[in-house]
Amino acid sequence: MPSLYIDGKWTAGSGGTADVLNPFDASVVQTVDQAGPDDVERAVAAARAAFDTGPWRTTSASERSALLRRISELLVRDKEEIARTETLDTGKTLKESRIDVDDVTAVFRYYADLADKDAGRIVDTGMDNVLSRVVHEPVGVCALITPWNYPLLQLSWKVAPALAAGNTMVIKPSEVTPLTSVMLVRLCEEAGVPPGVVNIVLGEGRSVGAPLTEHDDVDMVSFTGGLATGQAIIRASAATVKRVAVELGGKNPNIMFADVDLDLAADWAMTAVFLHSGQVCSAGARLIVEESMHDDLVAEIARRAQLIRMGNGLDETSEVGPLVSAAHRAKIEDFVASALAEGATLVTGGARPEGPDLQKGWFYPPTLLTGVRRDMRVIREETFGPILTVETFRTEEEAVALGNDTEYGLAGAVWTPDMAKAHRVAGALRHGTVWINDYHPYVPAAEWGGMKRSGNGRELGPTGLAEYQEHKHIWHNTDPAPSRWFSGDARVREEDGP
Ligand code: NAD
Repeated sequence: MPSLYIDGKWTAGSGGTADVLNPFDASVVQTVDQAGPDDVERAVAAARAAFDTGPWRTTSASERSALLRRISELLVRDKEEIARTETLDTGKTLKESRIDVDDVTAVFRYYADLADKDAGRIVDTGMDNVLSRVVHEPVGVCALITPWNYPLLQLSWKVAPALAAGNTMVIKPSEVTPLTSVMLVRLCEEAGVPPGVVNIVLGEGRSVGAPLTEHDDVDMVSFTGGLATGQAIIRASAATVKRVAVELGGKNPNIMFADVDLDLAADWAMTAVFLHSGQVCSAGARLIVEESMHDDLVAEIARRAQLIRMGNGLDETSEVGPLVSAAHRAKIEDFVASALAEGATLVTGGARPEGPDLQKGWFYPPTLLTGVRRDMRVIREETFGPILTVETFRTEEEAVALGNDTEYGLAGAVWTPDMAKAHRVAGALRHGTVWINDYHPYVPAAEWGGMKRSGNGRELGPTGLAEYQEHKHIWHNTDPAPSRWFSGDARVREEDGP
């Protein structure tokens, strides 16, 4: 079955093929087609035509809502197959993949609910003869470019609101993990999305993603991925002044006050960072702990981290899977090496694991570093792996200053039973999401996105829909009269006589 979907047809494309590898053992999961430059052109042309002349634009919001609901039902039907594929593609555990599919389903349901209730607004002008309306219209052709860590989930945050708003789109998933994105497009087709509305092209960022960001006929780029790519996309889109929403990385503080129960603190310090082997944009990679608790907490995390069961994501007893690729593991190893060279202390982890099952894949163990300084690369840059660094503070102000001492601003957490303190710190942190006494949860109805270099967009919630809309003002004067702005008008009338 071909892997590209352009103008309602599955096609092999002209870019050859690529193997998709299983991070557990480097075996080939599937060989997929790659798009050539002509395929990218055809996909954009199809999306353009479907937007400009197709029936899609004239569908009612309730029709689009019904379509999104049908997609959510198909996701429920195929949950197990999709989750299994996500695990084979990313290495994450089946438990996580199942949660991902449930979350994706919830996102489609949320935008199905919102689509037909989003009716723009009437503006009160204070004038009886004016009807002023702000109407919501789709932006047009959207390029949706996604990363490898939550392939299906990240895509759903874009596809569901983009469809709800009436846009057409060209999807470009990560070349590392394209499989469930293709599956989602199949479900869109089955649900009855008209030809040309949803297209998917596979391939490398430079050859397939970049042309979309420069294309005259693409009205918007929604991108989730790394900072450097996001910066390149903003630059590339400048010539055509297209709308660009970028969701980038994070260097997320997890702030623990000493009044937190030790068991709770150790448990959540680990869940915050080691879930999905730390390959989470909001991973709590910087543990910022009150000094008096440091030694006990570090000892407890070290004890527990060694017990985390690494293994095949398909094995229900595995707690974490491998890293996504050999290249990514090499990057993590480089971070640890540079931290140690700069004077950090390795408490646990820091070397490839032993054991016959863990040799073929790209495993790297939960790693704990103490004695870190704010100028170290491991503190300043997003590591995106199973590395937890520990810093200490003495006062609340110091905790906030450390939490904000990053160029990123995606997410963070504060832990304390003192509610007043918790809310003061949450209010002072410059991050797009702040959890109090929790880590990771999100709901489709609440916005997600970053401050500073973590991005300029918002996904989910009503704002996540607004990203894919033009808000047009229609002013209707129901009782027009001459304006008499120019005095000449009056003179002409005098000369013309009564
Ligand atoms: P990446 O930037 O390497 O790639 C992301 C996507 O962009 C891929 O599809 C890639 O092919 C494409 N791409 C690469 N170069 C391109 C170019 N010049 N023009 C257009 N497209 C191009 O990111 P990644 O390694 O796949 O993902 C990891 C990053 O994603 C991390 O930094 C992580 O924090 C971030 N992320 C952020 C969020 C969020 O919500 N803010 C969520 C998930 C992941």
